Amino acid sequence: MQISDRIKSLSPSQTLAMSQRSNELKARGVDVINLSVGEPDFNTPEHIKAAAQKAIDDNYTFYTPVGGYQSLREAISRKLDVENGVKFGAGDIVVGNGAKQALCNVILSVVNPGDEVIIPVPAWVSYVEMVKLAEGKNVLVPAGIEQDFKATAAQIEAAITPRTRVLLLCSPSNPTGSVYSREELQAIVDVVARHPEILVISDEIYEHINFTGSFTSLASFPELAGRVVVINGVSKAYAMTGWRIGYMAGPTAVAKAVTKLQSQYTSGPSSIAQKAAEAAYNGPQECVEEMRLAFQRRRDLVVSLAREIKGLEVNEPQGAFYLFPKVTAFLGRRTPDGVVMETSGDIAMYLLEKAHVATVDGEAFCCPGYIRLSYATADDTIREAMKRIADALACLV
Ligand code: PMP
Ligand code: GLU
Repeated sequence: MQISDRIKSLSPSQTLAMSQRSNELKARGVDVINLSVGEPDFNTPEHIKAAAQKAIDDNYTFYTPVGGYQSLREAISRKLDVENGVKFGAGDIVVGNGAKQALCNVILSVVNPGDEVIIPVPAWVSYVEMVKLAEGKNVLVPAGIEQDFKATAAQIEAAITPRTRVLLLCSPSNPTGSVYSREELQAIVDVVARHPEILVISDEIYEHINFTGSFTSLASFPELAGRVVVINGVSKAYAMTGWRIGYMAGPTAVAKAVTKLQSQYTSGPSSIAQKAAEAAYNGPQECVEEMRLAFQRRRDLVVSLAREIKGLEVNEPQGAFYLFPKVTAFLGRRTPDGVVMETSGDIAMYLLEKAHVATVDGEAFCCPGYIRLSYATADDTIREAMKRIADALACLV
């Protein structure tokens, strides 16, 4: 059977693959703790579920407008204005099947073959693969733990060439939890402002899972007016990963291109999920803060436990729900059976097999030498997982 070169050159999502592997082990009766996939462990708040049930009763069961219901796009437009101080009209917003599709839509709509896309790494697994789909060229800017995983303005400036078309930033970051301060963003904005041909894509999906007390949207810098596409959605803030609602908000021309693509590709997203998302944006927001506080408490717990493990190097994540410890101290060591740990992938596999804890290796995020733990799980599960990891790593000699 012929499979296209395009798909053959694509890597499967390692976050989803690792999660599936851990679920398979679980189904075979193995007591696996899954710290691989990144999703809130909370149930979707009741008022949001009720809105979806009402949507069915009210017969919101027909095809939806390609870019999403006008009422949802207006709710998002208000959210962007009130929470982020940025003005995007409903016509500048396209709702897709999750932020993942919204982002892929944008990349496919603005990147020509050979165009360069600057991505600080570590970066979420899907970015480089989406750029590959668009036949663009990934230009990776390395930002390790010694710089708290944040690319500097000088690094970004050095990466810019005449072929650069896009800068893709994610803050709070997956997989590191790092959050760019307003000052750090300003320095990057000052660089990009000198290159009017560059579009900035700002992935703000973890906006609300932020422990710094403040969030600045890249779209709020006047220097970049008309040149920023915001990616966001309900998956993380409202514990709605399975509903598949996310959006892009950006220049009208990009929104139109994305709508055209979506019209041929998937049509508008689910009617019921859109009505639920509308309730999320228009309804009470206390649930968001409650979940944020739980993530912050778990961040403190996981960081303190990880710092007790000799050999792990750990930053203090300021947002999202990931820890990205450096594991290079364990490379070259052997398991009791004599297997040598050559990569962080070997360590992630060893932790799955020996400790029954599923993580994701740094290679998946273009950053070998690290592993990612998602701590969006109960405190006791975090304690048990960290104990198992500590015991397993102590067996490496
Ligand atoms: N961006 C980042 C950085 C993410 O971690 C995720 C979560 N998978 C997404 C986008 C996509 O989220 P969703 O498709 O669930 O809205
Ligand atoms: N964002 C999550 C993660 O990184 C969900 C899985 C995915 O879509 O990659 O684990």
